[in-house]
Amino acid sequence: TFSPSEVTKAYLKKAKENNQKIGAYINITEDKAVEDSKSKFHSFGGVPMAIKDNIHVANVNTTCASKLLKNHKAIFNATVIKRLINCPVLGKTNMDEFAMGSSNETSAFYPVKNPWDLKKVSGGSSGGSAAAVAANLASFALGSDTGGSIRQPAAFCGVVGLRPTYGLVSRYGLVAVAPSMDQIGPLTKTVEDSAYVLSNLAGFDEKDAMTASPKTLDYTKSLKEDIKNVKIGLPKQYFTDYTNNEVRQAVNKAIRTLEKLGAKMVELDLSHTPYSVSAYTLLCAAEASSSLARLNGTSCKNTKIKGDYSKQCVNSRTEGFGIEVKRRILLGTHILNSTNYAEYYIRAQKVRTLVQRDFQRAFHSCDIILGPTTPTTAFPLNSKHDPLTMYLHDSYTTPASLAGLPAMSIPCGYDSNGLPIGLQLIAPHFKEQDILNVGHAFQ
Ligand code: GLN
Repeated sequence: TFSPSEVTKAYLKKAKENNQKIGAYINITEDKAVEDSKSKFHSFGGVPMAIKDNIHVANVNTTCASKLLKNHKAIFNATVIKRLINCPVLGKTNMDEFAMGSSNETSAFYPVKNPWDLKKVSGGSSGGSAAAVAANLASFALGSDTGGSIRQPAAFCGVVGLRPTYGLVSRYGLVAVAPSMDQIGPLTKTVEDSAYVLSNLAGFDEKDAMTASPKTLDYTKSLKEDIKNVKIGLPKQYFTDYTNNEVRQAVNKAIRTLEKLGAKMVELDLSHTPYSVSAYTLLCAAEASSSLARLNGTSCKNTKIKGDYSKQCVNSRTEGFGIEVKRRILLGTHILNSTNYAEYYIRAQKVRTLVQRDFQRAFHSCDIILGPTTPTTAFPLNSKHDPLTMYLHDSYTTPASLAGLPAMSIPCGYDSNGLPIGLQLIAPHFKEQDILNVGHAFQ
């Protein structure tokens, strides 16, 4: 066996050697990792981890991959960091700026390249975390998922990504984007690892008012492989022509494997699925415009910017925010305006309720829902998708986000170019154990 220090040093070496090629890390925190690895007590025997750069690690910069926060040092540890006791922090991972994006190309620093093919995107917004795990630059990573940011990059990079139930894991110390949907979760190589990390993360935190006290807190104990008679729902809206052929084939193959293991398939109609992206886009923008209003430039130590308060505020935001962030702030402000509020914001909330009801009804006839995580595999870097095309990549991840449901992406094969394909499992609130069991049996 190896000591935490030895393992940490080996990962640091690999991370430093490969980061220029892949771009998974914004900052490799070598000294901290070495220091952490020397502690006497660790969760999981001191396995080193990578942390998305929108989660605070005390005395390390939290940039959210934005120029505006380039020099922003965190002054406290997020609850998730405290709970993973002394797991060495190898570094902070690259992401789309303020977690807005699906390709990691909105990072103000550099994009993350897909370890399977360096000409392809890693997905986003937790692309750095997914790529770090896929390329063995960390043993596991934490990401955040608002509308798919853990699951979509996990699918593109061939790793396991879990978005927990809304309220299962504390967001204290996560930079908020859309607080009604933001969740932190693990990116790992295996479903079993995911269960280990989740067991450490889950549970009530007085610092996040939305957290609950679930009954299960150890997801590893009852991780069983018997899925006989588990009813798996297949929503027809997830298997349309919009899903690429090879993706559909791989998911269908996975369905047959699960049937052989004893699961029963049921057809589902989640009729509001096609409206999820629209509702998500509006709600996410509305919440983001209000969340990011606190970044007024006065605390970003950007000494170049002078003048009175309002000038400082305008100039630092003009210079500091990238195009996607500005687009969402403007869209969000526009729809929250009193003349537009009823037509857009309220209507999007109504659609959200309809999406939630679709799921509620569906779970009367099945235990878990299965479909592809994404309509395609990783697309080429610099594809220059227009924003709407880009948002549509989140068609299958946004519904669970709107409903606050737990959902996981698990690798289920490769396309003809050798790029990984992800399978998504969605369960009722706080039924992470069911997802983990089916995923574990499948893997
Ligand atoms: N890709 C989605 C978006 O651009 C999801 C982002 C996220 O989950 N943080 O909003």
